[in-house]
Amino acid sequence: MESQITEKALKLMEVTDWNLCNHCLGRNFSKLVEGEDNKYRGKYIAQILSEENYGSLNGKSCYICGNIFDYVEDGVIEKITSNINPVEFETFLVGSRVSPEILDREEKIHKSLELDVENIKKEINREIGKKLSIQLQKEVDFGYPDIVIMIDFVNDKIGIQINPIFIEGRYKKLIRGIPQTKWPCRKCRGKGCPNCDYTGKLYSESVEELVSIIPLQLFSGSDSKFHGAGREDIDVKMLGNGRPFVLEIKDPLIRNLDLNDLETKINEYANGKVEVSNLKFTGRKQKAMIKNSSTDTYKVYRALVETSDEIKEEELDKLSLLDVINQRTPIRVSHRRADKIRIRKVREISAKIISPSTFEMIVECEGGLYIKELISSDEGRTSPSVAKILGKKALCVQLDVLEVNI
Ligand SMILES: [Zn+2]
Ligand SMILES: [Zn+2]
Repeated sequence: MESQITEKALKLMEVTDWNLCNHCLGRNFSKLVEGEDNKYRGKYIAQILSEENYGSLNGKSCYICGNIFDYVEDGVIEKITSNINPVEFETFLVGSRVSPEILDREEKIHKSLELDVENIKKEINREIGKKLSIQLQKEVDFGYPDIVIMIDFVNDKIGIQINPIFIEGRYKKLIRGIPQTKWPCRKCRGKGCPNCDYTGKLYSESVEELVSIIPLQLFSGSDSKFHGAGREDIDVKMLGNGRPFVLEIKDPLIRNLDLNDLETKINEYANGKVEVSNLKFTGRKQKAMIKNSSTDTYKVYRALVETSDEIKEEELDKLSLLDVINQRTPIRVSHRRADKIRIRKVREISAKIISPSTFEMIVECEGGLYIKELISSDEGRTSPSVAKILGKKALCVQLDVLEVNI
């Protein structure tokens, strides 16, 4: 053995009085000695020290870990498997908590012997990970595992953290009068009161609830979160291909379900009010992506517009003048949105007369443009507007979203 290694090994024996397990001995030399694992390295070094008559490990309690690896090798796996029983997963990661004294003793040794090696937790996690992977036929995933198994050696406890699943899809809202997300009752703020019939809600249903209740049950989750790519007003239908959304199910005990089947079940439950399609499993990142309502996104709306005076077909040609719109935050949302001026483009517009003072308008525009205000002018806060261009009062009496492109 190289003299440098012998020298360091003997220093280590001096500090620990030959009280080391093979793992902790080997770990200190993981960068100096080749071998399949630290236990192997430890055995190798101990054998050489003994053969060269320096002395031998005395086999008592390890100075660094107090023989924690006995439990890692025998016992802990059984304890873990009996704890993760009801949870369905394919990938996992192991984490551990060991007493600060162990980490402290180890760090002091690393410092005094000038060793730059991994700490004991890494070895424990890796060794348990290897064993579990073989026994359960599941894979270790350092990126986004289905579950994280936390082994608390201090309190002798096993904790399982289940990562959420994300399902993306598109929804249509086929009737008016339901909000996209749950609105807490204004009086009780969700606690339940006579005003809301003890539901805690302002509206009895929402797209969020109609879409998530069935998946929450079937995946056996603890809670769910609905992320929509923007939202439509309560009185607005969402038609066409629907609006993209991501549904997050927290702590799911079940991760694998047939999504075609799930789609059918959700749509049965939503009973013609809401309809989902194109469900697929997705990653955590998609959630952030769909929240993006930048000008790269565009939308198509159909609006029914009522005017104060009669309107003629040829007047509607003037609507093509609507191009770049300066829109100050509308009065009706100013209590929850910052007051600022947005600049959005109308990409295409077409209109046809329905009755003497009503016309239908199809507008394609950049995401983030408020259509009701584009029509009414919102007391001059949106400019130009349909009202201004036509020279008469104009009101959006019905609105549908026909397309959402992100
Ligand atoms: Zn040890
Ligand atoms: Zn209430």
